[in-house]
Amino acid sequence: AKEDLRHILQRIDGRGYPAYRDLEGTYRFGTFQLVIEHVQSDPFAPPSRFRVEMGLDRTGIPGELYADPVRRTAMEDFILRTAHQRLKGWRQRRGSGKSGLIEITEPSQVVIPRSAVEIGHSRLTVRFVVGLPARGRTVLGRQAEEMILEDIPAWVEESFLWKSMDQNNARDHVALAVDQAALRRWMAEEKVIAFVADGAILPRESGQSDKPMGRGAVPFRSPESLRREVRLPSGRSVTGLAILQGITLICGGGYHGKSTLLRALEQGVYNHIAGDGREWVLTDPTAVKIRAEDGRWVRGVDISPFINDLPYGKSTDQFTTESASGATSQAANIMEAVEIGATTLLIDEDTSATNFMIRDARMQALVAKEHEPITPFIDRVRQLFDEWGISTVLVVGGAGDYLDVADAVIAMESYIPKDVTAEARRVVEQFPSGRKAEAVGPLPAKPVRKVRELGRRPKPGDKWKVEAKDEHLILYGRERVLLQAVEQLVEIGQTRAIAACLRILTERADGRSSLAELVRQLLVEMDQKGFAALAGSRGCPGNLAMPRPHEVAAAVNRLEGLKIV
Ligand code: ADP
Ligand code: MG
Repeated sequence: AKEDLRHILQRIDGRGYPAYRDLEGTYRFGTFQLVIEHVQSDPFAPPSRFRVEMGLDRTGIPGELYADPVRRTAMEDFILRTAHQRLKGWRQRRGSGKSGLIEITEPSQVVIPRSAVEIGHSRLTVRFVVGLPARGRTVLGRQAEEMILEDIPAWVEESFLWKSMDQNNARDHVALAVDQAALRRWMAEEKVIAFVADGAILPRESGQSDKPMGRGAVPFRSPESLRREVRLPSGRSVTGLAILQGITLICGGGYHGKSTLLRALEQGVYNHIAGDGREWVLTDPTAVKIRAEDGRWVRGVDISPFINDLPYGKSTDQFTTESASGATSQAANIMEAVEIGATTLLIDEDTSATNFMIRDARMQALVAKEHEPITPFIDRVRQLFDEWGISTVLVVGGAGDYLDVADAVIAMESYIPKDVTAEARRVVEQFPSGRKAEAVGPLPAKPVRKVRELGRRPKPGDKWKVEAKDEHLILYGRERVLLQAVEQLVEIGQTRAIAACLRILTERADGRSSLAELVRQLLVEMDQKGFAALAGSRGCPGNLAMPRPHEVAAAVNRLEGLKIV
C-alpha cells in the first residue's frame, strides 16, 4: 500500500538514482491504485511511466456520460483536458534534469481516443509521466514523497472526481459529441459528404497554430441554394452548406479562401472541441486528402487507370519506384486511398501535378495520346464516382475544363461561397473546352494488395526500434518513413500509435492478408482492448492517440522494404 511506498522512499533517500527502480509496482491509495510501471534510468532520461487506476463508481461520474463509444471518447477527452489544465502552474522543478516533472499528454483541437485517459468496463485508467527528483544523480527521497504521496493524490482528486470537475462543461462536451455524431448520421443518410455550418470559423491563427483566427476572421455563410438545416438531439439546430456525393468544384480567385475551406474539410474527418470554429464542419470520415508527392517510394501499386505504357514498357499495374514523379505519386496516393476504403477524395490544385489533373485541347492536338502515358484525372473523376462510388471535392482556380465534369460548382468570393452551378453550365455551353475524353474502358476492380512483408523482420535480440520522431517522421529501424505529405495527421500521438502499428504489422504480414485487412483488424483490436493492444515490452505509454486506418496504411505504403505478393 501507500505506506510501503513511503518506506521505500525513506530507505533509498540519498542513494544513487538506480535505487528508484525499487519503486516499480502497484500501490493502493484511498480511492485509487497507483502503478509505477517503469522508472527512468537517470534524471535526464525520458521520465518514469505512472498509471492511476480508479473504479468508475469511485469517480462519481454519471454513467450516462460514458454510456456508448461516442460519449465515452468525449468524456475521456474532457477528463484529459481537465487533468492537463490542472497541472498548469504546478511547481515542476525539484532538482536536476526532469526532477519534479508531472506531465500528461496535451490534447489538440480534436476529440479522439488517447491512451492518456481510457474509460474501460469498470475502471478509469490515466497514464502520465513523472520526473523522479534527484540532486545530481542522488535520490531526493523527501521530495519524491511530497510528489507521489501529496501532489499526485491531490491532482487525482482535482481532476478525476466528478465533484471537482466543471460539471456543466463536461455535460456540454459530451452533448456536443452526441450532436456531431447525429449530424454525421444525417449526412450519411442524405448522401452529404461534407457539412460546413453557418458561422463556422475556418481560417487558423497561423501556419503553425491550429487555433482559430481571432480578429478579422470572416464567419462562414452558406449559399441559400445549398443550405440545409438539421435538428440535433440536444434540441439545437444547425444550418449550413451541404456538399453532396458526386463531383464538387471549389473555384474562385486567388486568395479568396479556397484552400482554407478545403483544409477545414480535410480536418472535418475529426470532431473538434467547442470554440474551435470547426465544431460544425464535418466530412465523410473516410475522406482522404490527395496530393502530389514527388520523390516518394511506391510499392506495387496499380496506377494503370491513370498511367499506362510508360517508355520502355515499364509496367504500371504493379508500379514500384524509389522516386515517384508528381503525377505517378498522385496516382499512387489515389489508388492507396481507395484500397483502404476512402469514399471521398479532397484535392487542391495548389498541391497537384498539373499534368496529372488536365491535358487541354491544345496539348491533345500537339502530343498524340499514344505518346502520353497519363490519363488525366479529369477523364477518370466521373468513373470514380459512377463505378467505385468515390466522390471528389476539388479546388480549381485555373483549370476551367473541369466545369465539364462537375455536379456542383461553388465559387469563393472574399471568403464567402456562392453557388455558381447554373452559371457554370452556361459557360460550358458557350465555351466548349474542345477536348476529347481520354479514358478508354472502365476502371479495373478496386485495388487489393496482399502484403508479404513490411520490412526485414528483426531477429530475436536485434536492437530494432520503430518510433515517431515527430508528427511527420517515423524511424523504422534505420529507415526514415516520411509522412510530410500525410496531411490529416493531427497529433504526434497518432504518429506514435502508427509506429506501434508498424511494429505489430511487421510481425503479422505473411502474404495471406491484404493490407486493408491487416490494418482494419488491428484497429478493431484497439477498439476492443483499448491502447493496451499496442503495448510493447514496457507496457502501454500514455502518449498515444487513435489514428485512422488511412494514415496507418499511408505509413505502411511509404516503407522502403514493403513487399507485395
Ligand atoms: P486561396 O486558396 O483561394 O488562394 P486561401 O484559402 O489560401 O486562398 O486564403 C488566403 C488567405 O486568406 C489566408 O491567409 C487565409 O488565412 C485567409 N482567409 C481564408 N479564409 C478566411 C476567412 N474566412 N476570414 C479571414 N481570412 C481568411
Ligand atoms: Mg489555394
